[in-house]
Amino acid sequence: MSDSIAWNHVRGLTPLSLCDWPGHPCCVVFLGGCNLRCPTCHNGALAWSMETLPVVERPALRSFLARRARWLAGITVSGGEPTTVPGVGAVLHELAKSGLPVKLDTNGMLPEVVECMLAEGLVQRFAVDVKGPFAKYPALTGGAVDEVAARRNLSRIFAMAEKRPDAFFFRTTKVPLLDDADIETVRDLLPPGFALTLQDYIPPRRPHALADSEARRTPGNLVH
Ligand code: SF4
Repeated sequence: MSDSIAWNHVRGLTPLSLCDWPGHPCCVVFLGGCNLRCPTCHNGALAWSMETLPVVERPALRSFLARRARWLAGITVSGGEPTTVPGVGAVLHELAKSGLPVKLDTNGMLPEVVECMLAEGLVQRFAVDVKGPFAKYPALTGGAVDEVAARRNLSRIFAMAEKRPDAFFFRTTKVPLLDDADIETVRDLLPPGFALTLQDYIPPRRPHALADSEARRTPGNLVH
């Protein structure tokens, strides 16, 4: 049952990306649903109304990977927020059959799920989105996360990263709510030895809707 729930969240596939996982030409599998309400979200349809996007059926994904895996160096799982998907392990197990390593994008607010994925070897690398200083989380997440929860959850992620530095990297998008001092604050939060990857913010053309650039990345079907 949870298998079919998880597969119902698979709402997009980009056959090839050269920028989602630096050094790894990869495909990108998009899972719908998110626990945050970031006002700057570029993937609102996927995050909050995934039913408006077509499902990528399991046999189609399996067949795509069987044909294309040898041309890829990895799979990125993105969202939305993949850790919120009930039974997401079913999808990750299917991806593992390809023999490709998996990188998963996460906002880090469900560290227990990240811990589980890491322990089970279902994900080889996590790209953790640190949205800003803890104090700014309520504004950055549309009120979904307060300062205390942000600190608690990311501290747990940082502790995992200290033990497994090969399995994590950290990114911040320079949204208008952040200034240079905030970026420095985020750098100081990271465990020793980690660099912060900065991403430019491109405003969505329509608030809380799929921006055109994201729509191209989430076709919701397979390109053969
Ligand atoms: S930006 Fe990411 S974490 Fe925030 S609402 Fe959108 S998908 Fe969720």
